[in-house]
Amino acid sequence: MIDIDVAANLRSIRETLPNDVKLVAVSKFHPAEYVEAAYAAGQRVFGESHEQELSRKAEVLPKDIEWHFIGHLQTNKVKYIAPYIAMVDAVDSMKLLKEINKQAAKYDRVIDVLLELHIAEEATKYGFTLDACREMLAAGEWRGLANVRICGLMMMASNVDDEEQIRDEFNTAAAFFDEVKTNYFADNDSFRERSWGMSGDYMEAVECRSTMVRIGTAIFGPRVY
Ligand SMILES: *Cc1c(COP(=O)(O)O)cnc(C)c1O
Repeated sequence: MIDIDVAANLRSIRETLPNDVKLVAVSKFHPAEYVEAAYAAGQRVFGESHEQELSRKAEVLPKDIEWHFIGHLQTNKVKYIAPYIAMVDAVDSMKLLKEINKQAAKYDRVIDVLLELHIAEEATKYGFTLDACREMLAAGEWRGLANVRICGLMMMASNVDDEEQIRDEFNTAAAFFDEVKTNYFADNDSFRERSWGMSGDYMEAVECRSTMVRIGTAIFGPRVY
């Protein structure tokens, strides 16, 4: 039994989100039954951050679920999710981007990805620094990768209470999005996603131009690790 009203939580979050902001329901560390409850309430987009947990769920859950890999993805795990993953939200190296391209090609797929930015002050967060991202794009090798589609940028704000700092980080990401869009993707309609905002900060994220929020706790309750 699930002792949390997943449908009601989804409804109240949905009511506060603009219609054009995509909601990724983050189901990591919650059993498949939680995903089923959200699915029954109409949710189709889910995020997971561990390959084995995701693969186990994807096997038993409905096939029209759009799975997002939102965590740090090791290159040796890409092959397991390449057949079905809808989006890899947190590409943090050229090496990973190339491996996704290679595995996607084996299945004759084009996999959507977001580039993860490291803007937060925490040393533990993954992602490209703004300069590393600039360098990677300027080098141009990504242009030859026919089996990945770069759809935008993703980031996590610092885990702090200071709302000002969180907004500064979101605004930095939004300004960087504009820079990259202008310099590399001006004619590319696929490059349009700005994925920031989690349970604690998604309202601020949307005010700072997020197009895709990733929400776990506020839907499914606290995770049991
Ligand atoms: C776990 C996770 C989330 C969801 O966090 P909540 O605070 O539970 O909403 C969002 N994004 C990423 C990358 C995560 O790892």
